[in-house]
Amino acid sequence: MKLSILSTLSALISLTYLLKTEGAGLRASPNKKIESDTTRALETENSKFIECVVFENDGVSLPEQDELPQSLLCEEDYEEDTFGGTMYSLVGETASFFQEVNLDNGDVQIRFPEELVNLHDEVHFNEGTVSQITITFTGNDRRRKLVSLPSKGTMRLLIIAVGVPQSAYQIAVDTFGKNNRNLRNIYKNCSGNQLKINPSQVKGAVHGVLTIPPPANVCSYNYVKLSNYAKYHSKAMAAYGTATIDHYMFVLPNDNCVNFRGGQAWGEIGGRTTWVQANSQAFPIVQVHEVGHNMGFQHSATLTNSYGDGTDYMSNKAVWDKEGNKMCFNGAKLWYFNWYPNDNQLVRATTSTQTFKVVPLADVRKNRRISGGKLVLSVRSTSAHLFIWFNRAKQVNSGVTHDRNKVVVNMQSGKSMSSHKLSALSGGQTYTYHNFENGKTLYIKVNSINYSSNPYVAGDQASVSIWLG
Ligand SMILES: [Zn+2]
Repeated sequence: MKLSILSTLSALISLTYLLKTEGAGLRASPNKKIESDTTRALETENSKFIECVVFENDGVSLPEQDELPQSLLCEEDYEEDTFGGTMYSLVGETASFFQEVNLDNGDVQIRFPEELVNLHDEVHFNEGTVSQITITFTGNDRRRKLVSLPSKGTMRLLIIAVGVPQSAYQIAVDTFGKNNRNLRNIYKNCSGNQLKINPSQVKGAVHGVLTIPPPANVCSYNYVKLSNYAKYHSKAMAAYGTATIDHYMFVLPNDNCVNFRGGQAWGEIGGRTTWVQANSQAFPIVQVHEVGHNMGFQHSATLTNSYGDGTDYMSNKAVWDKEGNKMCFNGAKLWYFNWYPNDNQLVRATTSTQTFKVVPLADVRKNRRISGGKLVLSVRSTSAHLFIWFNRAKQVNSGVTHDRNKVVVNMQSGKSMSSHKLSALSGGQTYTYHNFENGKTLYIKVNSINYSSNPYVAGDQASVSIWLG
């Protein structure tokens, strides 16, 4: 998805707009059901209407590939059924239809006649159809849930594999195994053992991986339609029992067979479903990135590339193989994961210089930070939220390839906004942000960076001064 500073700002503006207008309702009645006589008449005449919850779906593409276009999905029975109902790809003129609606929170519901769904489980938004599609609900419930999505505790993941070469056991090892770099270990290590992604213990699954035989014409499917097929097939097997399932990952044939719409993998923002191609399922960059979308995160960008911040798994700049690289997340994402709340420091910049000790994640997670050291500083004004952190390449972050051992400045306007890397500073360098507050310039100066060449020694720190001038 193309996300520039401008689109971040416009997203912010539409968020503000939505918050202001929500009480009055959006396009449609503020209540769940449409009460107009016209609609009732239509409903009587036609057999069925579909009501579903809209999700932004964000993918990851290979580093050398272009950015992916915006993708939207709509999911039936989101609340009623653990497993959820059919998913529809929303295609065509969706951007103009939803232009004033904030879809970041999974709290927008639409309603349309069943006839609008085509053979590929798609709903086309165009001149002929938009008059039949109505936004029927937008509320705070899911927004609150998204804001408080658990980034601590245990999450149960069910993997559903359909017609892929690897065995269920292999997929389980590649995702949850104790001795390799994978989804479970990266979240566990980066969170300091606070977030564990475990296999869901459903009936019929091998260590959390359920295998579904593919349909005969599997290569005529797109990834959404194939996951619908797999859902209903596995429901028919009554495979689920009463096991807890928080998230679903569909592992599907590669895009030379199944249409993945240009992405290597996809994940709903703030939803519970991810889709990955068999050939990259084992790659940490794919697993961690897509489940990160489920946890409400968007991409980690630079000012010129929406996937460009290689200090973070929400980019596409990690190593693209099974081995992956040992790293975690940037300061903005670490702040919103809230794994180390006592190590986050909110800073109100003033014309007096304030100086802080910024310390690495590796020392914080082992409780070996130097006295008074902070993991992330967030300097905020009404127009910008900046995050400052020390990208020390050691231990849990030893394999980071971008901006190693520098102090990095990111901007991110809210949890479900993209982050943008603004600067990576060495000792002695200063970053300036013009017109930060009341026309004043914000100065962020790295006085010094000190670390031991021995990665097992704690006490690394960057001294950072902040002031307005
Ligand atoms: Zn993505």
